Amino acid sequence: MKNYYELSRELAHLGSAYALVHWDFETQMPKGAAAWRAETMGFFAGLLHEKMVHPDYFTSAQTALKNAANELEKEALRCAIKDIEKKTLLPQKLVEEMSEASALAHEGWVTAKKEKNFSIFAPHLEKMIRLSREQASFYAQGKDPYDALLDDYSPGMTSAMIKKLFDELRPKLQELISRRKKPMDKKWSVPIEIQEKICHDVVAWMGFPADQLVQARSVHPFCTNLHPSDVRITTRYNVDDPLMSLMSTVHELGHGLYENQIPAEHVGTPLNQANGMDMHESQSRLWEVCLATSPEFFRWVHGWYDKNAPEYIKGWSAQDLFTLASVVKPSLIRTESDPVTYGMHVMIRFELELAIFNGTLSVQQLPDAWNKAYQNYLGVTPPDDSVGILQDSHWSSGAFGYFPSYLLGTMISCQLHASLKEKFPDLSSRVETGKLAEVCTWLKENVHRYGRGMPAPQIISQATGRPLSPDNFLQFLNERFIA
Ligand SMILES: [Zn+2]
Repeated sequence: MKNYYELSRELAHLGSAYALVHWDFETQMPKGAAAWRAETMGFFAGLLHEKMVHPDYFTSAQTALKNAANELEKEALRCAIKDIEKKTLLPQKLVEEMSEASALAHEGWVTAKKEKNFSIFAPHLEKMIRLSREQASFYAQGKDPYDALLDDYSPGMTSAMIKKLFDELRPKLQELISRRKKPMDKKWSVPIEIQEKICHDVVAWMGFPADQLVQARSVHPFCTNLHPSDVRITTRYNVDDPLMSLMSTVHELGHGLYENQIPAEHVGTPLNQANGMDMHESQSRLWEVCLATSPEFFRWVHGWYDKNAPEYIKGWSAQDLFTLASVVKPSLIRTESDPVTYGMHVMIRFELELAIFNGTLSVQQLPDAWNKAYQNYLGVTPPDDSVGILQDSHWSSGAFGYFPSYLLGTMISCQLHASLKEKFPDLSSRVETGKLAEVCTWLKENVHRYGRGMPAPQIISQATGRPLSPDNFLQFLNERFIA
């Protein structure tokens, strides 16, 4: 029988092939090939699943755990065993039921959103909640079902820990929002070819190894990787919003750098995997929000335009660009919100999910609860469900417990940023001049290199000298966006 490391390397090859086929599907594939491609992707996904749930794989992981050389390897192998158990503990019937129900729920969600009518989605949502609860009960091992679901996205966190953090955060965030400045009333437009050029040059600004990256366009920006040495990101462009493409490129590069700097040894094992959605989001938000939404980054941007496309920067100072990028404005849509109001969007979803899983809120009561929460926390009321409770697709796929990772990620990024500023007192001038190689190395040494070999809360404490708290996050928001 092959050992665990040989088997996981085979899985890594399959995963890599799947990622390439999927990348091509999103960026290059001719539209007419969609049916065949869906079959190909299903075939690869099936092969991966088959290998993952094979009894030999589980036995080999247990043997490897017995022989593990150090604590990093042991923790990674415990994660591997947990992953396999999660895949094998669920009865086949439930897996099939979930996959069928989520396909239908997705369709129901699309129609409901189009028709601005929650009641079309409600029966699907009820079913997804019931099935997710059932699913969680199989691997909750005595834990609360919602905590078991959370664990998929923010390993090591519980709803009680998150509730405590969010409760502390909420009034302070509301206070910051109440002190926001008037937004800038000026529009900036840049042709897409120019935007694409700066989105390519920002790779060198960051210090990302250009020979290990591919950039492309897609409808929804994303990052994927075939291996640490082969990272791919996409960007979406809009002539009238040159900041969107630039900031989202920096965001995806932050995700990509994490994948790029995880040690390639033991590829396919959790030592070579990112540590949860919250840690992943902390890396993208660190680059996008902490480093790039800054006056010094926009001095770099302004300098780039001066040199490469001066006609598009006429009448704009570097400070103007930063002012445009740092507008704070309560709004209805989470994905379009600024870093100050963003937290409220996440907390609303977390509160509602908790209430659903506690049994204190029914699906019928949800739209009303959603609208009330938006009025309470952000002072805005959705005119209809499509820009209210139907805006996110997460619940249609049964991704309950996912939302907190977005806010936790930003909190983690601000705490890491505070440590970076201590380590590099000249961080601002490094950002302005694009000399960030040592910052990348610091992230590699303190975060990336552990993969899943150390629980995320421990990585955070070790890298920053204290457990995760909202302090740095609030201080950062105040200094950067409000004061
Ligand atoms: Zn992200």
